[in-house]
Amino acid sequence: MSDSIIQIQNVNKWFGDFQVLKEINLEVKPKEKIVVCGPSGSGKSTLIRCINRLEEHQKGSIIVDGTEISEDTKNIEQVRAEVGMVFQQFNLFPHLSILDNCTLAPIWVKKMPKKEAEKLALEHLERVQILDQAQKFPGQLSGGQQQRVAIARALCMEPKIMLFDEPTSALDPEMIKEVLDVMVNLAKQGMTMIVVTHEMGFAKEVADQMIFMDEGMIVEKATTKDFFANPKSDRTKLFLSQIL
Ligand code: ADP
Ligand code: MG
Repeated sequence: MSDSIIQIQNVNKWFGDFQVLKEINLEVKPKEKIVVCGPSGSGKSTLIRCINRLEEHQKGSIIVDGTEISEDTKNIEQVRAEVGMVFQQFNLFPHLSILDNCTLAPIWVKKMPKKEAEKLALEHLERVQILDQAQKFPGQLSGGQQQRVAIARALCMEPKIMLFDEPTSALDPEMIKEVLDVMVNLAKQGMTMIVVTHEMGFAKEVADQMIFMDEGMIVEKATTKDFFANPKSDRTKLFLSQIL
């Protein structure tokens, strides 16, 4: 029995004839923080989307907290209940208030009583420092505020794992820090996290392991210290020289 909360073994995925993921192997331990970086189109989003079955892999296995992701919809539901996801484009429901955005899934998926769901939502909105906006609608908030709501909304499902796909890439520079601060706090509180980002300051502060992807492969996987101090592959070196 592995002590990993996520086990990805020999995963391959194709979009038609195009192989987007090639022999991906990755183990994530509880509470571990992994930062994934690499050039655009290298398969980073596809990889993390396979972890909660927003994309389907064709070969290999992905086991999340003991449940293998397969066509079995029961398994998919179970995994999705444990895995929260935050996207580049917030994806809040524009016609629902901030509070209702946060209570929707707990009420409909977890069958939580409305009062209880609202109490939980207010706690998480406070945690991301946006409690005072609870009655507003997404369009009335800044990008940074919307992304913090998206994080609170995911936390309302009380996930064991959080996946972030370039959560600050769509934000104006002055809003990046407020979102990263929330993520740093979440990391310090012990959340298991996989974060696709090019925010290397965040990576250095938070990540236990760094992964560099290129052309559908994990080209380099190392502790954060080794990754920055002593990158092995030429492609990693080139990438780091371009973004640091
Ligand atoms: P990254 O997140 O690293 O930028 P992606 O995982 O989004 O990369 O995409 C990897 C490759 O797969 C890209 O070449 C992209 O064009 C392709 N791709 C992504 N989604 C689809 C799709 N739904 N259908 C076909 N090709 C796709
Ligand atoms: Mg992407």
